[in-house]
Amino acid sequence: MNICGLGVSGSYLFKRLSDLGFKVNAFDVKRSDYYIPCGYATNERKIEEYCKRVGINFDDYVLTRAENVIVAGDNFAEHTFNSSGLCTFDKNRFEHDLVKDLTAMKKPPDYNNGISLDCSGISRALLGQSPDDYSMSAIEYLSNKAEHKTFYFKFYGKAMGYFWEFPMGNQFHVGAGGLDQGDNLKRIEPYQKILVTGRKIRLKPLFENMYRENVIGIGEAIGCVSPITGEGIIPSLESADLFIECARRYDDVHDLFEKYAGKIRKEFGRYYGLHRLVNNLQEGRTLTVNNLRFARAALNEFREFGVDITAPSVLSHFIMPKKQN
Ligand SMILES: Cc1cc2nc3c(=O)[nH]c(=O)nc-3n(C[C@H](O)[C@H](O)[C@H](O)COP(=O)(O)OP(=O)(O)OC[C@H]3O[C@@H](n4cnc5c(N)ncnc54)[C@H](O)[C@@H]3O)c2cc1C
Repeated sequence: MNICGLGVSGSYLFKRLSDLGFKVNAFDVKRSDYYIPCGYATNERKIEEYCKRVGINFDDYVLTRAENVIVAGDNFAEHTFNSSGLCTFDKNRFEHDLVKDLTAMKKPPDYNNGISLDCSGISRALLGQSPDDYSMSAIEYLSNKAEHKTFYFKFYGKAMGYFWEFPMGNQFHVGAGGLDQGDNLKRIEPYQKILVTGRKIRLKPLFENMYRENVIGIGEAIGCVSPITGEGIIPSLESADLFIECARRYDDVHDLFEKYAGKIRKEFGRYYGLHRLVNNLQEGRTLTVNNLRFARAALNEFREFGVDITAPSVLSHFIMPKKQN
């Protein structure tokens, strides 16, 4: 097998598939000192189970555990919630350590030979672009200062994106992700910066474009990212595990790809409705029964991420946005 991209899903797969006895060629284009553009926030109660499978003690990577989490919006007042596992961790070291005992290739393998896994995230380097793709721009600073001492999310009106401050030990990640990169820049500009990073983030399931010929997509390449929170680390690991489960059972490539695709659609099917919800809010479409249903599911996305959201006022943000001036 070949792995294109050693981000979170590719590194995890490289390690697990090698441990399981598969012969794997893996390659990534990034430089060794590359600082990964990501908030580095995850739910430690969930990521621990993946770490156990690769012999990693997640505790060693935790930078800050959230005690509470502030959620605010352009359209609603600030609320403080309990954390249900939200933390930041050293993602650069984590990805490095996943593959430290393995040898990645210095140049791309022959992706036409055998099964190739597209783990290249936003790039879809092997699968190619999908005509119905949807992404937002994001920019992030590593900073010595933030306005809040705890984890902070601020949602833009009309579901156009969000701003975050995540404590990282004695530093912070301050970021802004949204459709309008000018607006993102305005929100983040006042902050002090040690370094600047950013990229687009895919916020739509591409589950109709998951594979072609001998290539199958994993993680953000196929849209395993929550359309509400932008959480992509655990969904990418989850998709990697679904692939492993199928690779161990099915020798025939067609069967393997079909079964995996079915599992992804089942596990992440809610992303279709959540993406539609975001789209409805952006277009200013008013309350529908479906919005209500998916608004509840939207709050659940926060719980998945590790924020114990309960407030109805936040729910209303996901049903019917107030008119913008
Ligand atoms: C600014 C920002 C903040 C985010 N914050 C969070 C967060 O706090 N928590 C969270 O859960 N999620 C967050 N996400 C989402 C999360 O980072 C991703 O969804 C997740 O890392 C995707 O994992 P992946 O393995 O699919 O792809 P990635 O981790 O993106 O890895 C893709 C890899 O492919 C490599 N690659 C690209 N093209 C090629 C090529 N042609 N050949 C070889 N290699 C290639 C890249 O160098 C990269 O290493 C954030 C995303 C962004 C942009």
